[in-house]
Amino acid sequence: MTAPTPRPGILDIKPYVPGSSDAPGVETVYKLSSNESALGASPAAIEAYEAASSHLELYPDGGCVELRKKIAGTYGLNADRIVCGAGSDEILQLLTRAYAGEGDNIVQSDHGFLVYALAAKSCGAEVRFAPEKNLTCDIDAMLAAVDDKTKLVFIANPNNPTGTYVPESEIRRLREELRDDVLLVIDAAYAEYMETPDYVDGAALVEENENVVMTRTFSKIYGLAAVRLGWGYCPAPVADVLNRIRGPFNVTAAAQAAGAAALDDQHFVQRNRDFNRKEREIIVQRLGGVGVECAPSFGNFVLFRAPDGDADGLQAYLRSKGVIVREVGAYKLPEWLRVSVGSPEGNRLFLELMESRFGNG
Ligand SMILES: *Cc1c(COP(=O)(O)O)cnc(C)c1O
Repeated sequence: MTAPTPRPGILDIKPYVPGSSDAPGVETVYKLSSNESALGASPAAIEAYEAASSHLELYPDGGCVELRKKIAGTYGLNADRIVCGAGSDEILQLLTRAYAGEGDNIVQSDHGFLVYALAAKSCGAEVRFAPEKNLTCDIDAMLAAVDDKTKLVFIANPNNPTGTYVPESEIRRLREELRDDVLLVIDAAYAEYMETPDYVDGAALVEENENVVMTRTFSKIYGLAAVRLGWGYCPAPVADVLNRIRGPFNVTAAAQAAGAAALDDQHFVQRNRDFNRKEREIIVQRLGGVGVECAPSFGNFVLFRAPDGDADGLQAYLRSKGVIVREVGAYKLPEWLRVSVGSPEGNRLFLELMESRFGNG
């Protein structure tokens, strides 16, 4: 055999399947399958993105200096410990590549975000899944899944696709009971939506420990998924490691400009948070009204169970009417679907379809 062969494990990876966006034969399609911002992005961010087009010949600032300063100012953090990436996905991939390889493993929960498992496999590492309780990450099970080959533990808080979260006390207990040489990665992609007092994004834990990283994204409440922008908040030695292995110009100039402008428009963030809370409450209440079970949701989406367990059939029905929701069979939730909080029109159509299918009226 002379053909090039990838490293062991690579061909076992099932490629990530993004939320689909087409519904053949339907005129108006509402894509509620990728947790994208229903209100778009801040006009200031759009303007900054457009302005960046006048100097496409220039390399971006490889250190994202202005953007990191602005992130630090907005969230009260130390700019030196921030590493920016092409989406938080890139930060998650870099962390895995830096700290895990063949013979190692990572730990994540059963219904946790699947990018962690994909990143681990691409590095030749194994994945140990911890069972959840009530669709919520179970810290005892996470700790029990850790063995002497474990290099990283990943937790999305709140998690996608379940929407549930773990309170500060449990996150702290997870860190305290983990070995010091295991890196705890707290993925806080939905932190800006959180309004409960027992929630923390993890930044304080990063500052108190040498072995915690928090990741954040501009893809959700900031509405900048298209530009690919995220960041990690790291202990100084971890930031140093990421800066050694990342691409020298891994974040585009347009992404840096749009992100900085988006941070300056916290009014937009507040508006998006308020809109999301109101619409999410309506979705949960009306689904409950026709007996559809929902997981307690804290993000910009709701996980709900197909009443007859036929998630495929329900997804196909909704799609045929122009509403695209996300199948979550890959997350070991074959009877469930995830709907993003969309525009008022999209949410209404979704709810009307669900009520006409499952209501007695
Ligand atoms: C959407 C999402 C992200 C963000 O990914 P980006 O690469 O920043 O777009 C990260 N983690 C979770 C759990 C998510 O749902």
